[in-house]
Amino acid sequence: MFGPPGSGKGTQASRVALRLAIPHVAAGDMLRNEVARGTDLGREAKPIMDAGGLVPDDLVVRMINARLNQQDAAKGVLLDGFPRTVPQAVTLDRMLKVRDDYVAEVISLEVPDDELKTRILKRADVEGRSDDTAEGLANRLVVYHQDTWPVLEHYRSVGTRIETIDGVGDIDTITERIVTALRHHGISVTST
Ligand code: AMP
Repeated sequence: MFGPPGSGKGTQASRVALRLAIPHVAAGDMLRNEVARGTDLGREAKPIMDAGGLVPDDLVVRMINARLNQQDAAKGVLLDGFPRTVPQAVTLDRMLKVRDDYVAEVISLEVPDDELKTRILKRADVEGRSDDTAEGLANRLVVYHQDTWPVLEHYRSVGTRIETIDGVGDIDTITERIVTALRHHGISVTST
């Protein structure tokens, strides 16, 4: 699940993963969990996350690799917020290849920047995420356009299917857009 900060990718990924009956692997949630537990990784990641930057590739890759080694990931996972840089994507492709696996599909949620800003500032009031500040958000958008957007180009160049989904609308409508696209590609998705 690919998309800018505030595009609803976390919400959509968790709903779609349920209906695909595979784990939802969210890099941001895993990092926040490390921060909450006060692990070495969490201590390193926190200031970077609060400033809206990216945690170093090797740390994130190690964390995701460990997650993919868990038994429930054997039949595939829905990745959310990873890969976020081209080097992460290249490493992921390699990590999957040794497992005789690959990225089957990229779901790209598209939401205009103006709408993202409104949504994130609203989320700041509701969830109190420490990176949902005007400054953190501005940085995350710059990082997204600079470092993360090229990941789509990477997957386009290796011939991975990319499904572009209009991410503006109500939550159920967007989930159905994604489900319909997956079904078109012969992926089986349960109806609720
Ligand atoms: P998210 O919950 O996906 O918005 O992620 C929150 C923050 O966690 C990001 O702004 C980054 O600081 C960090 N983060 C999440 N995923 C990654 C990743 N794949 N690579 C580097 N940093 C990440």
